[in-house]
Amino acid sequence: MDAVCRLCRRENVKLFLKGDRCLSDKCAINKRNYAPGLHGQRRRTKLSEYGLQLREKQKVKRTYGLMESQFRSYFQKAARAQGVTGINLLVLLERRLDNVVYRMGFADSRAQARQLVRHGHVRVNGRKVNIPSFLIKQGDAVEPREKSRHMEVIRGNMEHIAQKQIPEWLHVDATAMRGVVQTLPSREDITMPIQEQLIVELYSK
Ligand code: SF4
Repeated sequence: MDAVCRLCRRENVKLFLKGDRCLSDKCAINKRNYAPGLHGQRRRTKLSEYGLQLREKQKVKRTYGLMESQFRSYFQKAARAQGVTGINLLVLLERRLDNVVYRMGFADSRAQARQLVRHGHVRVNGRKVNIPSFLIKQGDAVEPREKSRHMEVIRGNMEHIAQKQIPEWLHVDATAMRGVVQTLPSREDITMPIQEQLIVELYSK
């Protein structure tokens, strides 16, 4: 079983880490919806309050493909900002360039988006940005670099854009291969089942 899919099985939720496979019958959550490992098929035991908080944090951290130290620094930034810490955290994560490239449909997973950004295939407002954690702002234009537009992976993803749900805070012109950040995301735009308050409680101990 794929190591990446084991992360979903551990969290008992689809984290959408494998592109189109996640929407197919091959998805491990559809086929083997129990925790990985020798005792995975035992009934899931009721988690303690701490266990619930930890699992929620792991779920979000894995969804965005972050290390613990990176995730914690997002939390600290979210806590320092005005407003509700949990919502600030999710909005910061959504604003990462690799996430935006994925959400716009140029990549079919955040991992693929991260590769595209790291290898210099993405431009923001006409300038190459190769930092996956770069935070986009309202009005930013995101697009593959001219030379990268012929790449099979990008072309293939663009051909399937009609089947993808582009969030309302983003606008994508598939023909021009260009996306614009219309507004910053709000909590309602983040539709994955996340109880961010549990993460706030975990880090506030
Ligand atoms: Fe694997 Fe995607 Fe299914 Fe997760 S959602 S188990 S990554 S195929």
